[in-house]
Amino acid sequence: MFKKYFTICFLLFVSCASLAVEPQNLETAKQAVMKYYDSGAYDYDVQQAIDWASDYLHLRLAQNQEHQKLAIVLDIDETALKSYDLMKDSDFSSTPDVIKTKLNKSHIPALAPVLKLYNYALQNNVAVFFVTGRSENLQTITENVLNNAGYKNWTGLYLRMPKDIGRNTIEYKTSVRKKITTMGYDIVLSIGDQYNDLAGGYADRTIKLPNPFYIVP
Ligand SMILES: [Mg+2]
Repeated sequence: MFKKYFTICFLLFVSCASLAVEPQNLETAKQAVMKYYDSGAYDYDVQQAIDWASDYLHLRLAQNQEHQKLAIVLDIDETALKSYDLMKDSDFSSTPDVIKTKLNKSHIPALAPVLKLYNYALQNNVAVFFVTGRSENLQTITENVLNNAGYKNWTGLYLRMPKDIGRNTIEYKTSVRKKITTMGYDIVLSIGDQYNDLAGGYADRTIKLPNPFYIVP
């Protein structure tokens, strides 16, 4: 009897020990993302981050007695623009076709708190530069989608040029911020939804917006 019990326990141990830890189920992950969005938590987290950014910009403007050229840098997708409805419609797929369709849309709504910060910056003579991983062949469609979302009169729009293809995001975006700095601007805020939007320096403060939807390598 004891031998039989021991054998069963041993076999159970061997079968359990050979199993890997199962990762989170894909459907469960999608449901969690939709719950995060539908509950209002996503909008709340964006608002909190932009409130902090607005307070910091307000402070820097108050301190700017010497009238330095101040600037902010904004990423575009999931920073200036909010494409949640498009992502949900495509079941959060990131195939090349789905991404291409999204990037060629001329109507994507703004992330409202970011547009408000943008207008506050412009009203206070703070330059705004968009720095995006989109490639330069999307320049016209990108200008259109920004305009249609309510963004007008930006100071600069930087897209990936052929020379930037193959550079990683940190390298590419840092080189653009460095260029803006050498133009005489003090970049007080750099805002993006990916950590690689923000790493690399050439900004006084960085603001990470939430993005549980995808990762840009
Ligand atoms: Mg982005």
